Amino acid sequence: MFEAYVDSLQTRIPERPGAYYAHLVVLRRTDSYAVFRTDGELNTAHVQAGLDDTQKMTRLTIFKRKQTTPERLTGRELLRRYGVYDQIKEELGRDCAYNDQETGFCGVCPDCVTYGYAMSDTGAEKSKVYSDTAYSLTSYDDSHESFTLNAPYEDGTMTKKGVTSNRFSQQDHVKPGVYFPGVLTLRDPTALGLAYVINNVRRSRLYGAQTTRTGRLDNQIVALIFADGEIFANLKLTQRVHDLTSGGGDVPSAVLRAAKELVQQDGVTCKVVEGAALDALLGELDATFTDADKLRTFLQDYAAQTREYAERIGVGGARKARAGRARK
Ligand SMILES: [Zn+2]
Repeated sequence: MFEAYVDSLQTRIPERPGAYYAHLVVLRRTDSYAVFRTDGELNTAHVQAGLDDTQKMTRLTIFKRKQTTPERLTGRELLRRYGVYDQIKEELGRDCAYNDQETGFCGVCPDCVTYGYAMSDTGAEKSKVYSDTAYSLTSYDDSHESFTLNAPYEDGTMTKKGVTSNRFSQQDHVKPGVYFPGVLTLRDPTALGLAYVINNVRRSRLYGAQTTRTGRLDNQIVALIFADGEIFANLKLTQRVHDLTSGGGDVPSAVLRAAKELVQQDGVTCKVVEGAALDALLGELDATFTDADKLRTFLQDYAAQTREYAERIGVGGARKARAGRARK
């Protein structure tokens, strides 16, 4: 995997940051009516429309956790299906549970090491995946509709434990076809780690409330930028795409053009993988990720790599052996 890009990748997961960055330029597009909100209202931001177009505009936003949580959960369910957690349980005597203080994070699996965790007793690992709030390309006024969505519970009723759902109420929804350009950054990736994150991004569809079928996003990877530092923010990318498409034009090509243009201003060394080279790379990944045996082998290989890292930093042993050991 990524044979042509070995110089841009770490050969093993480092203990300290080494200025290897893989930035995925991802164009997300709503595929259904969606609700990205906190406290009952869609999240919005009042910002400048473009870099050239200095008018103000209210945009819809998707906070970073709303982007990365569904993606890490996609990875976790694959790890479970293909036996990685069974193996950890068998060999280390522990399970890994997401946001469940009782069971806790295992600290050694691809999910814990890649996306990070914090536990009161077992310490913490910083996420190696960085994202930022994503902004809609089009304005709030052009991107939402208000209507009542009948959203029953799993058993088909609108009541749960005697309480009737309030989801009958009038609500703002993001319309289908709204674009959210953005960058997802992986720090110090190995080839396996990068492939793991890309697979999660490409497989994830459901980003809204977990109880409904709304909130579907289609994720298109427009470019992969290997760099030795941070690059432009999501808002800047969206604003530049706004300038490029205000007279009409293809959004995915505008995102690519904007990304290539902006990264030149970031003062980093970089290698942009796009077009045919990107297609070839994603095609190669597809060959692994659409074959159950190859996918299982891939996940086990990456799990061996994350476990080796966890052991190196002192999180890898059995739970008892780890007790009392101070984390540096
Ligand atoms: Zn884990």
